[in-house]
Amino acid sequence: MSATSTLPLVLVGIGGLGAPAAATLVQAGARHLRLIDDDRVELSNLPRQPLFGTGDLGQLKVEAAARRLEAFAGPGGLHVEALALRLDGGNADALLEGALAVLDGTDGLPSKLALNDAAVRQRVPLVHAGALGTEGQLMTILPGETACVRCLFPELRERDDFASCQQAGIVGPVVGAVGVRMAAEGLALSRGERPSLAGRLAMLDGVGLRWRTIEVRRNAACPGCGHAALAP
Ligand SMILES: [Zn+2]
Repeated sequence: MSATSTLPLVLVGIGGLGAPAAATLVQAGARHLRLIDDDRVELSNLPRQPLFGTGDLGQLKVEAAARRLEAFAGPGGLHVEALALRLDGGNADALLEGALAVLDGTDGLPSKLALNDAAVRQRVPLVHAGALGTEGQLMTILPGETACVRCLFPELRERDDFASCQQAGIVGPVVGAVGVRMAAEGLALSRGERPSLAGRLAMLDGVGLRWRTIEVRRNAACPGCGHAALAP
C-alpha cells in the first residue's frame, strides 16, 4: 500500500455525494479527514447516505459520520475533524487551512462558488461534484493550472438560478456513483498522483449509466481564477 499524506482531506457536505465519498476514502486508506456540515440526520437521508442508520436520527451528521468512519478504519485509526458548520464566503478560507485537497459534496450553487473561490485562493486542489435528477458531473481543479468552476460556468454569479437538489430531486445510485468517483480523485491527490479529471469534466448519464468526459480550458478573464482575480 502506498504512503498517504497526513494532511487532511476536507469534505464539505456529508449528504448524498459526501457520505459515499467519505466511506470510500476511509475504506481505501485515508486516515485524516475534516468533515464540514451543519445538518442533522433526517429520515429522508437514510436511503442514499450509507453512513447513517435510524439510530442516528436527529444527530449532527458530522458526529454520526465520524463514529461510523472510525469503525470502518479499525485498529489503524482515523483522525476526523468534525466541524458542524455551514461553509460560506466568510469562513471558507479558514476551513481549508492546511488541507491536502477538498471534495465538494455541497448541493447549492452559492456554496459551490464560495468553495471554488477559496480553494483557488488557498491553492488547495478541489474536486467539484454535483448531481441532479439522473445526471451527475465531476471535475478536479488544480488551482493556477486547470480550469475552475467559474471557468466552467462563466455566466454564473452568486445568484442561484438552478434548481437545488431539494427542488429537483436526486437519484440515489447517481449521487452514489459520483460520490465514489469524487473519492477516487481525492485518493489520487493524497498519493501525489495527478487525478484523472484534472481539467476535465466528467458527466454521468444515470439512465444509460455512461460517463462522458470533455476537456475544459481556463478562461483568462475568469472572475475566480483568471489573471485579474489572482493579481496581488
Ligand atoms: Zn476559473
